[in-house]
Amino acid sequence: MATLSFFNTCFFDFGAVGRLPKAMAALGISKPLLVTDQGIRHAGIADRILDHLGDRSQVEIFDETPGNPTEAAVMAATRQCRDSACDGIVAVGGGSPIDLAKAASLMALSDRPLADYAGVSRGKVKQVLPMIAVPTTAGTGSEVSVGMIIIVQDGRKLTFVADEFIPDIAICDPDLTSGLPAGLTAATGMDAVTHCIEAVLSPVVNPPAEAIGLDGLERAIAGQALERAVADGADREARWNMMMASTEGAYAFVKGLGAVHAMSHACGALPGLHLHHGTLNAVLLPAVLRFNADGSAEKLQRIGRAMGLAAADSLADFIRLLNARLGLPANLAAMGVTGNHIEGLAEAAAQDMATQTNPRPVSRSDYELLFSEALDMA
Ligand SMILES: [Zn+2]
Repeated sequence: MATLSFFNTCFFDFGAVGRLPKAMAALGISKPLLVTDQGIRHAGIADRILDHLGDRSQVEIFDETPGNPTEAAVMAATRQCRDSACDGIVAVGGGSPIDLAKAASLMALSDRPLADYAGVSRGKVKQVLPMIAVPTTAGTGSEVSVGMIIIVQDGRKLTFVADEFIPDIAICDPDLTSGLPAGLTAATGMDAVTHCIEAVLSPVVNPPAEAIGLDGLERAIAGQALERAVADGADREARWNMMMASTEGAYAFVKGLGAVHAMSHACGALPGLHLHHGTLNAVLLPAVLRFNADGSAEKLQRIGRAMGLAAADSLADFIRLLNARLGLPANLAAMGVTGNHIEGLAEAAAQDMATQTNPRPVSRSDYELLFSEALDMA
């Protein structure tokens, strides 16, 4: 078993989920709130986790996490946590349950409104409940990251960043992803790939984080773990490498993300559409890569090398063709976004935190052009 010690301790191996009782004991958790969603429950994964937790009467379950976590859902989980006097949280699922659990671990011990903690809230967070994250997808990296994304009451999709939001312990068991359908494997996998690419391109100086991002790309793309995991969900080596690429993506994005995430967050907040974060990133990536080409030549070459591309290959074209092979949509129009959305999306993206670490400054009008390009890209 690999034990990765960066911001938290991450137990990483097939069967690592067996570590859960010890992890809970180490954090003094005796009455956990298990935060998950309906999909994980129906897939039987929540039961597999409960089997490791011993006395089920001591476990509270919140399984109402929406596809994109909302403040209302956070507060429902928080009430359950308080009412049952839970002393810690175990999050099981993709990025949404893990992010919702982070917010609940904060709100369980806070009387201020959630939005007060938006942005980089150094020093504002006094206390959070102990938390263990068990990812069941390979993409978000939320199990080792300082951030969470929540749609607050007024409809904005906000990023929250604080060291306290890093789960105390992460348990990465690639076997938990073996039943993930091909479509979700592709979409979440492209989220991990986008994290690695945007983190490397970010102008923040942090060569170790960059090296981790490049390793993630080598595993996912040059090593073909992503395409193999999509083609055959039971390919355990591919699942291991995708989960590692996902965790690495989050280690890398301590440097920040970029315009792809700013645009993707804006689209993810569109009411009624419930668009998947990873799918959005995959679809938006080619247009942003072309926009960022000016001034990022050396980094784009390093990224291309890590991905096993020839020097003359266009990274944007490679991603476009990869998306098609993975069965992902070609453009935003195919996802239900229309020209009428663009103005609002551009405004939201320009305000998004990820805009600040895009390698090339992006204005609101740049975003309008980028959204138009991504809307009907062939
Ligand atoms: Zn992401």
